[in-house]
Amino acid sequence: MYETVIGLEIHIQLNTASKAFCSDENAFDAEPNTNVSQISLAHPGTLPKMNRKHIEKAVLLGLAFGSEINRYNLFDRKNYFYPDLPKGYQITQDKEPYCRKGEIRFISEGQLKSVRLHHIHMEEDAGKSIHDQNDLFTLVDINRAGVPLLEIVTEPDFRSGQEVSDFMAELQKAVQYLNISDANMEEGAFRCDCNVSVRKKGSPILGERCEIKNMNSRRFAKSAIEYEATRQIAVLESGGAIHKTTMLYDPVANVTKPMRKKESENDYRYFPEPDLPPVVLTEKFIDQAKSDLVTLPVDRYIRLKDHYQLNHADAEYLTEDKSYSDCFFGLANKTSNYKSLSELLISKVIPYIKTNGITLADLGNTDHLLGFIQLIDSDKVPKSAVYQHVFPVWIRDISQNPEDIASDLQLIKSDNQDFLDDLIVQVLKANADKVKEYQKGKKGLIGFFMGQVMQKSGGKADPKVLQVKMEDMLKG
Ligand code: ADP
Ligand code: MG
Repeated sequence: MYETVIGLEIHIQLNTASKAFCSDENAFDAEPNTNVSQISLAHPGTLPKMNRKHIEKAVLLGLAFGSEINRYNLFDRKNYFYPDLPKGYQITQDKEPYCRKGEIRFISEGQLKSVRLHHIHMEEDAGKSIHDQNDLFTLVDINRAGVPLLEIVTEPDFRSGQEVSDFMAELQKAVQYLNISDANMEEGAFRCDCNVSVRKKGSPILGERCEIKNMNSRRFAKSAIEYEATRQIAVLESGGAIHKTTMLYDPVANVTKPMRKKESENDYRYFPEPDLPPVVLTEKFIDQAKSDLVTLPVDRYIRLKDHYQLNHADAEYLTEDKSYSDCFFGLANKTSNYKSLSELLISKVIPYIKTNGITLADLGNTDHLLGFIQLIDSDKVPKSAVYQHVFPVWIRDISQNPEDIASDLQLIKSDNQDFLDDLIVQVLKANADKVKEYQKGKKGLIGFFMGQVMQKSGGKADPKVLQVKMEDMLKG
């Protein structure tokens, strides 16, 4: 029996206004090669300058995961030649990352798991090479060169592609909650290298690994890891050995392919960056970052499940975006009907804002949602009618009183339910054969009869009254 072992290196582009070492705009969708000053190109005589926001966001991320923050920070140059790297080197932190240790917790297949962080370091992105379809030309866009990055390196604590995928989802959400990055994978703002090895189960020694570069989809990461592990096991089983290799994943064929032999550290000729002074972090700076911390998605998920008794799917849905869970927790302090609250948000309000491309903030003071929950709880209008008829009117201006809307729409159940008698007779007549079945013992049919009457009543029937009348009438 083999066990798969995975460690990740994740690159996260930060959502700062400007680049890491100069004032060039940091914008994903700009015209190619428009955000490129002499500093991004490292022309002679230019000097880089640290971006305060880069450091703030870096520290915030480290604190969020309980890591140790280095107070005295130095930078290094990593040298290599590539057309999209006009400087010929990347500024990074090689020997002394600003952040060590800590852990990231996440939920995988219903269980709380945790991976240890080796470190997080600050660096800058390279430009982008766009390979022409026929491989005749390679186009280069330097806009991305100098975009601030954080690289998170985990310990080899993952044991399956599924765990990696679930972890990536949590980390993506965490950096969005902390307003560090939009973590958009398609746009390359969140990229992951997966180091994969296999070993005999129970063995204390790690196997030799291969590194699959640049996974920009959770699903692909999972498939690539599963393929790679199977491939390595086959090699070992046939008496071969794994050689440390850098691989690329081909999602169409669902295979990993060798890209190159992995560089050794020496190939990069790291040396201290001479143009940046040390960055010394004061306690005041760290305290400021602490005040920007928020409760992480995984902790919100746990609270939604354990304290508010929500099921897995609902808890997951509400933690998808910080504004959703903020809204839930805010209102849960003001109503005790958590079920109605979560249902309203999940089945109505959030789908509405998603389809209309707006945010919860656009709705104004969400305390008004409480009036809606009260109407549902009051039982004056059936929930289905509230959702179908009252909601569309109310959502356009949530400060309206939902009960007034229901009353305008003549949806409030009248105390006098005599009109039901006629409707019941109609329904039973139209379904004479089913009535016979009922009388022979198929008692479940009562639901069907009641549903028919409910529909005819336009939601005005009081289900409790209806049930009593219906049972009476069926006794014949
Ligand atoms: P390198 O210097 O070659 O980048 P590191 O020691 O920095 O290697 O590790 C890089 C990543 O590879 C880390 O995420 C680490 O957890 C992971 N890793 C290291 N050894 C293994 C292994 N045998 N199997 C799986 N992952 C590994
Ligand atoms: Mg590395």
